[in-house]
Amino acid sequence: MRLRNITGSREVIADSKYVIQESGLEQCPGTFHEIFGNENPLHIEIGMGKGRFIHTLAKEHPEINYVGIEKYSSVLLRAIQKMEEEELPNLKFIRMDAEDVLKVFAEGEVDKIYLNFSDPWPKDRHAKRRLPSRQFLERYDKILRKDGFLEFKTDNKDLFDFAVEELEPAGWKAKVITYDLHADEELMQGNVMTEYEEKFSSMGNPIYKYIIYR
Ligand code: SAM
Repeated sequence: MRLRNITGSREVIADSKYVIQESGLEQCPGTFHEIFGNENPLHIEIGMGKGRFIHTLAKEHPEINYVGIEKYSSVLLRAIQKMEEEELPNLKFIRMDAEDVLKVFAEGEVDKIYLNFSDPWPKDRHAKRRLPSRQFLERYDKILRKDGFLEFKTDNKDLFDFAVEELEPAGWKAKVITYDLHADEELMQGNVMTEYEEKFSSMGNPIYKYIIYR
């Protein structure tokens, strides 16, 4: 998702108390319990877009701390606006490229990772930019607690097939793989729709999902 540049979005982000500021990211690893002021588990969404999914989850689960990561200021701005309408103490945002997750989270600090409708990067030469690629799985392996899970949803079959093929070489295993999430009553229990999920499922596209671990 890339929205038109919105004038002033960088300034809003720089002033926002909901955002962990770029200048403070280096000090982050190992400090998320201090940042949130409690000992609750930490769940993160990488490439959160406008933040609907993570905002809903944070509202439903005050006993979990959430961090939403988004690369683009213009998109993050929308998530900030949502927080201004409905403030939640257990949700923070970071504007950064997911390539830098190792600079922000300590080893095993994250209890769960969500990837939703990640950009497909269809050209082969861009495969390593795909968020479920083995290069990213290697980074997630470091920050995710040893018995933690990663959940990924998409409507893009090619991206999903690629993501499933990446598991074995990267040393991950699937607990769940579905090629039609919305037809699975059990998996749909507690399913929180993302913006893209709502859009593409309403067009009749099946939604693919895996839950993986090492
Ligand atoms: N997760 C949302 C949803 O399901 O509605 C948004 C999906 S949108 C297709 C993908 C989002 O991931 C975009 O907002 C994009 O800017 C963000 N993104 C893509 N690559 C990223 C990266 N390397 N680091 C951080 N965010 C990224």
